[in-house]
Amino acid sequence: MYYSFIMLKPDALKRHLVEQIMQYFKKEGIEIERLGFKKVDEQLIDVHYAHVIEKYGDVFRSRLMDYFNGQDTIPMILKSGKESLVADIRRIVGATDPSKADHGTIRGDLGDDSFDRCASENRSCYNLIHASDSFENAKEETAVWFGKEVSEQYFGK
Ligand code: GDP
Repeated sequence: MYYSFIMLKPDALKRHLVEQIMQYFKKEGIEIERLGFKKVDEQLIDVHYAHVIEKYGDVFRSRLMDYFNGQDTIPMILKSGKESLVADIRRIVGATDPSKADHGTIRGDLGDDSFDRCASENRSCYNLIHASDSFENAKEETAVWFGKEVSEQYFGK
């Protein structure tokens, strides 16, 4: 069995899209292994988004905090028997900018935001879901959201 990490962002919960989003994975034989419910704080966002905060800077960080801090999210470990799991999940999720995401993807079908709109409104882009882009990052992100012990259980030491 192969495992990867996703996190449903605050807009997915506020818009009551959790079940609808999970149908996209179920349809392709990808199942939930572990599900959490997490009200996020600044520290968690700083760690999880360290790479983009470093790349885009302080304004980007403060927009991320407005989007996430104190909000509810659902981190999950997903599983399937296919080695292509990480790529399969990313394909099902679609492009980062929902307005550019293909029809049939989660962000393309359910997303209601665009990079252009969020830039003009000085805020983060509401794109529903995060998905790890490698098994290595899935391991790290699982440790951040579920703890090191859980991460080692699925991804090894
Ligand atoms: P993802 O893996 O598709 O979520 O994309 P990244 O890991 O590159 O970026 C993490 C998150 O930062 C994305 O989900 C977006 O919320 C945000 N982000 C990344 N690049 C941009 C950008 O160019 N503009 C805006 N508004 N947000 C961005």
